[in-house]
Amino acid sequence: MNKESKLYSIFKNKCPKCHEGQFFESNNPYNLKNFSKMPDECPVCGQKYEPETGFYYGAMYVSYAFGVAIFVAVWVSTSLLFPDMSVYLTIGLVLAALVLLFPVSFRLARLVWINIFVKYSKEYRNSVEQKQI
Ligand SMILES: [Zn+2]
Repeated sequence: MNKESKLYSIFKNKCPKCHEGQFFESNNPYNLKNFSKMPDECPVCGQKYEPETGFYYGAMYVSYAFGVAIFVAVWVSTSLLFPDMSVYLTIGLVLAALVLLFPVSFRLARLVWINIFVKYSKEYRNSVEQKQI
């Protein structure tokens, strides 16, 4: 995967600015005690991970889009594979998929959201040095 691509940061759990520091402390979304823990800033380039208070409220829109995508994917695949399945069972499967995929969707939503606002910068080392002057 191209390291300069935003998808690299999103899917590899990396800082949106330098694509090197970890974004979430744990790489495993199913490490349920720590799946949402983030350092205050990138350990490599110093990018703040919460640029302003309430920054991640906006990630709910992204999360909502993932929720709709999961709903449609489960609904369409069950109605194609098992056309006789009851609606209640299908709803149950949709809810189960939403619950099981919540940690993944939560983390991807935050990574997508911060990647909308923070651009990749090859020159992050220069900017770190400028801050120290
Ligand atoms: Zn960084």
